[in-house]
Order: sequence, then C-alpha cells, then structure tokens
Amino acid sequence: MDTAVAANKSENAAGQTHESHDRAALTTEIVQMLYVGSTSALVMALVVSALLVYSLSDIIHVRQIIAWSGIVLLTYTARKLLTMAYHRRSNHDEDAQIWLLRFRIATGFCGIAWGLAGLLLFPHNTEQQAFLIFVLAGVLGGGITVYSIDNMTAVSYAAGTLLLAIPRFLINNNVFSVTLGIMLVLYVVYVMLAGRRAAQSIRENILLRVATARSEQELAVFAQRQKLHIESTPMGVIEWDVGSRVVLWNSAAESIFGYSSHQAMGRHISFIVHPTSLNQLDEAIEGILAGQTNQNFIQENLRQDGEIIHCEWLNTPLKNPDGSVVGWASLVQDKTAFKKAQEEVYQLAYFDVLTNLPNRRLLLDRLGQALIASKRAESYGAVIFLDLDNFKTLNDTKGHSIGDLLLREVAARLHKAVRENDTVARIGGDEFVLVLSILGHSQEIAEATCRQIAEKVMQEINRPYHLNAHEHHSSASVGVCLFLGQELSVDEVLKRADTAMYQAKQAGRNNVQFFNASLQPALDLRARLQNDLRLSLVNEELVLFYQVQVDHQFNISGAEVLIRWIHPEMGLVSPAEFIPLAEDSGQIIPIGTWVLREACMRLKSWEESGQNKSLRLSVNVSARQFGQSDFVNQVSLALSNSGCQSRLLRLELTESLVLQNIDDVVTKMRALKELGVSLAMDDFGTGYSSLSVLRHLPLDELKIDQGFVRELLVDSEDMVIVQTIIAMGKNLGMEVIAEGVETAEQAALLRKFGCMAYQGYLFGKPMPIAEFEANTRTAGRKSRSGIAVS
Ligand code: C2E
Ligand code: MG
Ligand code: MG
Repeated sequence: MDTAVAANKSENAAGQTHESHDRAALTTEIVQMLYVGSTSALVMALVVSALLVYSLSDIIHVRQIIAWSGIVLLTYTARKLLTMAYHRRSNHDEDAQIWLLRFRIATGFCGIAWGLAGLLLFPHNTEQQAFLIFVLAGVLGGGITVYSIDNMTAVSYAAGTLLLAIPRFLINNNVFSVTLGIMLVLYVVYVMLAGRRAAQSIRENILLRVATARSEQELAVFAQRQKLHIESTPMGVIEWDVGSRVVLWNSAAESIFGYSSHQAMGRHISFIVHPTSLNQLDEAIEGILAGQTNQNFIQENLRQDGEIIHCEWLNTPLKNPDGSVVGWASLVQDKTAFKKAQEEVYQLAYFDVLTNLPNRRLLLDRLGQALIASKRAESYGAVIFLDLDNFKTLNDTKGHSIGDLLLREVAARLHKAVRENDTVARIGGDEFVLVLSILGHSQEIAEATCRQIAEKVMQEINRPYHLNAHEHHSSASVGVCLFLGQELSVDEVLKRADTAMYQAKQAGRNNVQFFNASLQPALDLRARLQNDLRLSLVNEELVLFYQVQVDHQFNISGAEVLIRWIHPEMGLVSPAEFIPLAEDSGQIIPIGTWVLREACMRLKSWEESGQNKSLRLSVNVSARQFGQSDFVNQVSLALSNSGCQSRLLRLELTESLVLQNIDDVVTKMRALKELGVSLAMDDFGTGYSSLSVLRHLPLDELKIDQGFVRELLVDSEDMVIVQTIIAMGKNLGMEVIAEGVETAEQAALLRKFGCMAYQGYLFGKPMPIAEFEANTRTAGRKSRSGIAVS
C-alpha cells in the first residue's frame, strides 16, 4: 500500500478514537452534573407542591389533591433513590449512557407528575388558573435550566407538562386560560432555547477541558516513553550545549566511557577525546554549530580508565524554531571490538600467520606499487626470490615444529637485512620474496646493489641456528629479477625471479642468480615434468630396470633395482632427472613405496619359481622417504605383504641422509636390521660423512661412487681414494662394491686392490625384467658349465 495513504488512514483513525474518547468523557461529566442536584430538586418539589396544594385546597377535591401529592412524592423519591444508587454504584466503568437513560426516564416521570397537576388540580377560577400557570412556569423554567445540559432530559422533563397540562388549558372554553396555556408554551420554548445555548457553551468548556487533560496525559506518556527509550538504547545518547558541554548523558554513554552521568554533566567534550583526534573534533564542532546535519565519523576516544576506544559518532544540531542552534546531540557507538575484528581479518588476509610477514596477496599489491613507483621515478627495482635449501628434509626428519622455528628465524633475519620500506614476504613453505625499490637509473649500479643485498641476505641465512638446543645450518638459493617501470607485469616479474631461483638451485644451491632468459626453456620443461609426474604412477608409466651385481668371482650375486619413467610423449626419462623433482614435490613418497613393494614381490616370485631364488635386490631409498616417521613400518609391510625373505633385500642409503639427524637415523637403521634387511651406503666418497660417524652406522656395504671408478686408471688420487675405501670397509667389517665398472682393466685393478663385488656396464646394463631374467638364465647355465662372467 502507498505509505502516504496508509499514514493518512492511521491519522484519521487516531482522530476518531480521540473524538469518541472525548464524547464519552463529556457524557460522564454531564451525567455527574445531572445526578448532583437531586436532593435540592426533591426539597424544592415538595415545598412547591405543598404550597400549590395548600392554595388550591379549597376548590379542588381532596382525593385529587392526595392522589397528585402521592404521585409527586413517589416520582421525586424514586429519582432520589436512583441518584443514591448512582452515587453508590460500585462499577464506575459502567456505561454512563445507561445512567443517563435512567435519569432521563426518572426526570420524564417527574415532568409527568407536574403535568398531572394541570389535569388533576385544574381550577375553574381564572385567578387560580393564573397561579397554577405561574407555578408550572416556575417549576418548568427552573427544571429546564438545570437539565438543559442534556437536551433529552430537558425535553423529557418538559414533555409531561406540555402534553398533559397545556391541552387542559387550551380546551377550556375561556380566552384567558387559552392565553395562559399559549404563553406557557412560548415560555417553555424560550427557556429551552436559552438553556440550550448556555448548555452548549458548558459542553464546549467540558470538551475543551477533557481534550486538554487527554493531550496532557498523552504528552506525559510520550515523555516517559522517550526517557525510557533514551535510557534503554544500546547507543550512547549525549546532548551538548552550544559550548559543547554535556547536558544529557544516558546509561549507554556511562558504560561506553566509564563516566557516570553525574561525573559527565557540564564537562567539555574534550574529556573523552584522544589528543590525536582533537583537530578532527574542532572541525566537527565548527560544522555542527554552523548547522551541518548528520555528521558521521569514527573517532579515537578515551575511557575514564585511560583505555583508548574507537567510537562511531552521529551528530545533529539542535535548533530553535527560528533556526538558531541551541546545542547538539550525538549518538555514539563503541566500535572497538568491530575494529579489532576487522584488523584481525586484515591480518589473516594479508599476513602469514607463522612469520607475520606479508603473504602472497599483499606481496602482489606491494609489487604492483613498486612497479608504479619505478615508472614514476624512472628507477630500477628488483625482486629477490629466496628458497631455503633442503628445508623439506629438515621438516621430514626433525618435525614441523623445528621447521617452523627455522622459518621464523629466517623471517626475522631477512627483515633485519633490508631497508625499512622494502617488502619481505613469505609466499610458500620455504619461499620468501624481497621487493627492493628505487635502486637508481643505471642498470649496472642497480645490479651491483642488488647482488650486494642478496649476498648479505645469504650470509645472514648461513649463520648457524639454534633450534630447540639443536644447532642447525641452512642455506638458500636466491634468484633476482630487475625491473624498470611497468614493462613487465607483477606476475611476470615474480615468475622470472622464481626461474632465476631454480637456476640457482641447479647451479648447486647456496648461490645467487640473476634472471637469464636463455635458460627459460629448460625450466619450462622441468615444470612440465614435475606436473606430469603426478600422474605417472596411476598411469603406470613407471617401470623398474634391473642391473646385475657380481661377486669377486664375477658370479651374479644380485641386482640393483633402478626406476625408469616412460613418458607418453618424451619417452624414457632418466631418474637422475625426475627423482630430484619427485623429492621436491613429495611425490617420492608414493613412488618409493611402490618400488619397495615391487622389489619384494619380485623376490617372492623368484623364490617361488626357483629361478634367481638366491639373488639379492638392492633398492635405492631417498632421504625424504627415509625421513618418514613410519619408514621402518613401510618396509616391514612390504616384506610381510609379499612374504619374501628379508635377508635378500638391501636398502641403499646416501650420505646426505645420514647427515640429517644421526641419532634418529641410527635408530631407524637398527630397526631395519632387526627386520633382517641389509644396508648399503650408496655413492660413498662423495659426501662428507666422517670416519667417526661411519663407525656408528650398522652398514653392511659401502658402494664406491662410480666417479672414482671412472678415473681409476688415469687419476692417481682417485686410485688412492678407492684403495682407502676398500681398506676402510674391510676394517669396519663391511662389504665393498664398486659401481660403474665399464672395462675389464678397471675390474682387474679393483680386484687387485681387494674389492669383492662389482656393478657396471661390463657385467650388464640396467634392463627390463624379461631381459634380465633371460640373461640370468644364460649366465646360470654358463656358470654351471664353469665359465664365469668376465
Ligand atoms: P645410483 O643409485 O648411484 O645408481 C647407479 C646409476 O649408475 C644408475 O643410473 C645406473 O644406470 C648407472 N650405471 C651403472 N653402471 C654404470 C656404468 O658402468 N657406467 C655408467 N656411466 N653408469 C652406470 P640411473 O639408473 O640413471 O640412476 C640414477 C640415480 O637415480 C641412481 O643412482 C639413484 O640414486 C636414483 N634412483 C634410481 N632408481 C631409484 C629409485 O627407485 N628410488 C630412488 N630413490 N632413487 C633411484
Ligand atoms: Mg644406487
Ligand atoms: Mg650410486
């Protein structure tokens, strides 16, 4: 419905209820007035009727006189009783209309009683007729005047006399009595008209009084309600005089600011305003006194206890009807909790929870600004992309809480290493990004400054860490991309810095690389492989090759299991290429588990078929895989699920794995040995494991790295190393195997040095299982007929 129409309707309805209320109040008052004078009316009636009876007693029959006197007494007494009943009524709410009706009827009977005087006491003597008319006129005139406040009462009172007495005068065949009758009629009409006019003004007076009383009551109710409203509203309601001193202070204002109304009254607004907001306040007051309406702002305020709060203010001037401002009013809401929540949301949305550094989202924003600033100042800027080396291994081997400690410490060191207005962000597990702005107009100088900063950052990262009492060393691979203006997008700059970081990783970690576009294709390939690798297991693109290992008599003693990836488009991909990717992405875990399971099942199938049943299989285990807390369990499961003999399974570990957390590694190695599995140290000689560490490891075999074997015949240093490893193995009671043996000369020299086992192309390349099994069959026949592999 149209709101204007609706408002109109409800206004009309309110007007109508007021009118009916006022009418009802008027009737009540009229009824009260009518019932007041009944005693005097009774006395007057009795006195007048007695005088009338007395003066007519000679000429009227005594029976008529008694009858009439009885009627008068009866009617007036009846009305007196009604009056008493009215005053004694218990139910005051009873409709005044009923009492009015009762009064009209009773008064009508009184009128009839006087009318009957005209009939019963009618004298034939004209003098006495005149006397009777005189009495009736007096009685009627007095009555009508008194009852004229209610028309109907006056009419019902006059009706009896007019209807009963007047006709008696008119039918008398005497001009005088007819004249008397007519004059009485005229007199009654005149008195009624005059009475009506007086009554009208009385009624109007009453109505006016009633209406005034009603609106006064309504005003009082309204004021009370308004006070209640102000007191119970959760908003602070404050009124100020023109000098901005408190004149009203509700209970919400008391709880917001901590001052009671008593304490606040008369004080200037500055007592609740934080000094930093005073200027804003002055402006606001100036505006409001100039008549500005609906001022709305958030301000820092002070509570009585000194706490700073944030309040939203809505101010309006208070104006006189002539438009002059006499003060102003404020609605105040405490928004401190809301603001805090908002800040928390902002913090969560734009900052990294662990390190409190800006996150990727904020970085993108800041980098966007840095590009704009670079364009404006025509000055170089740079993004430094930093990735911690071997962080995942630390996380896997020492737990996430230690990893978190390292990240926090790195964040703090990076923060210290750069200028105040440079951004340091954390955008992923162990990836940090620095945005350096305004490095100058010259590319050479910008590059030099950048390199300096990057190296300083790396030095910081290289300092030892104390993580829960463990000393830890870390390094970072750092990629840099310079930018000038907005030639490159934010995404492109970041991508280039990321690419440069990969270049740094590939260049052996712990170094700085500037973006070099020529290396991009290789990096794209790497990204593609990493992506495709995720599906390689489910798509059954991974296969295992087997490479023979032989003993000192060159008899086959076992094989190393080597994984291959047959990429659907690129063909065979070497593990040297994809295993590091799998380690980075964590894919090495499911892949490693799969290799273990396959190797164990292969052992079991050889045991069952009888062919190769005494061959041992060596399986490569990556550091990340070994670092899994349930690694021993995984091995145990692979063994029990296949049902193979554990002594035929050998695990090849690397030195880097041993360097992580020696106690944990030794515990795990012992547990593996308890399962019956044997352990080899792969690529031995390339790492840094010291003799003292080596002594504590429950190893069964050292695998001389193929690098030493390759140069064995030409490099005397390698020759010495190989000899030393063989001697060391013997002293520690470990077997020693040489890998990468390609020539008979190498094999012969190794044998001379005392090496007891060999692996290399000389004895067989890694090959698919079918080929391997075919080969071992032939080799078995040859060895049975006395010809060893050589
Ligand atoms: P590795 O464990 O040191 O394996 C020996 C590598 O030397 C193999 O390379 C093998 O094909 C190669 N090789 C053997 N004999 C000769 C030789 O006479 N001359 C030359 N030039 N090379 C020889 P491959 O198969 O490419 O494997 C490379 C590395 O990939 C392995 O080094 C191993 O660290 C890793 N890898 C292979 N399979 C797995 C696996 O299943 N799990 C894990 N975690 N790593 C694996
Ligand atoms: Mg190996
Ligand atoms: Mg090796």
